Amino acid sequence: MPAATLYLVATPIGNLEDLTYRATRILAEVNLIAAEDTRHTRKLLNHYGISTPLISYYREKEMSRAGELLTRLLDGESIALVSDAGTPGIADPGAVLAQKARQAGIRVSPIPGASALTAAVSVAGMTRSEFLFLGFPPAKGGERRKFLESMTICAWPLVMYESPRRVRQLCSDMLNLWGDRPAMVARELSKTFEETEKSTLGQLLAHPIIEIERGEYVVIVWPMAAPEYEADDLDTLLRWHRDQGEWSLKDVCRRLAADLNRSRTEIYQRALIIWQEENAD
Ligand code: SAM
Repeated sequence: MPAATLYLVATPIGNLEDLTYRATRILAEVNLIAAEDTRHTRKLLNHYGISTPLISYYREKEMSRAGELLTRLLDGESIALVSDAGTPGIADPGAVLAQKARQAGIRVSPIPGASALTAAVSVAGMTRSEFLFLGFPPAKGGERRKFLESMTICAWPLVMYESPRRVRQLCSDMLNLWGDRPAMVARELSKTFEETEKSTLGQLLAHPIIEIERGEYVVIVWPMAAPEYEADDLDTLLRWHRDQGEWSLKDVCRRLAADLNRSRTEIYQRALIIWQEENAD
């Protein structure tokens, strides 16, 4: 292993088997592991029979601890930084030490692995590659609504972490602000009670996944800026829904038939042609 490297090591977000081979080796080989909660990380290390010394490194201590850890890196020790779950530096401590080490000319190396962000996005059925990760929205009502308002015109899906106590309120605030947009809630990913539910904000608010109010949640909401259309401009609307990719062809036809008060068969026949256009591209 190269001397004096700071590794930012991803650890499981629930299922202990999600630690990579490489992460296991690095955690066993470094001189020191800086952990958000040493007791929590000790359980993971015990599971893998790793006895590397641990030191605590949490948000409130980031500044002071970073200096101490930097001294050890400059002395030639290698350090692995881990958070309680997932990838350090993503809505978790890590940025301060990574920046200080980099500025001091220390090699900073990621050991990639689990993250609730990538796990949720991977199953969300995103038809395009762009999305915006917002971390945790503000906890307080007024601040949160202001924050959400600032996202109103964002044309990309928004991905958020949220505490189980506030997930209902978050969905309700978004529904009030933006109407019934497509949305997904992912809960307890990789754990025994893993659940994902994709529908709309209104339907999610009536779904048991929101009622549970325990566990860990990722919320994704899609934009719903359907173009203005004339009643006879069905093709534009169908192309827009096809490109959004949030609904199946069947669902698009069902919804448009109801919205436009037109025959579902007629819309379906037109939709088949529009969907084939895409395949012909
Ligand atoms: N750094 C971590 C990562 O890469 O995922 C995230 C840390 S952040 C402090 C913790 C938040 O991530 C939780 O409140 C929840 O929103 C989300 N999260 C973590 N584990 C999760 C899981 N197993 N299922 C769903 N969301 C999870």
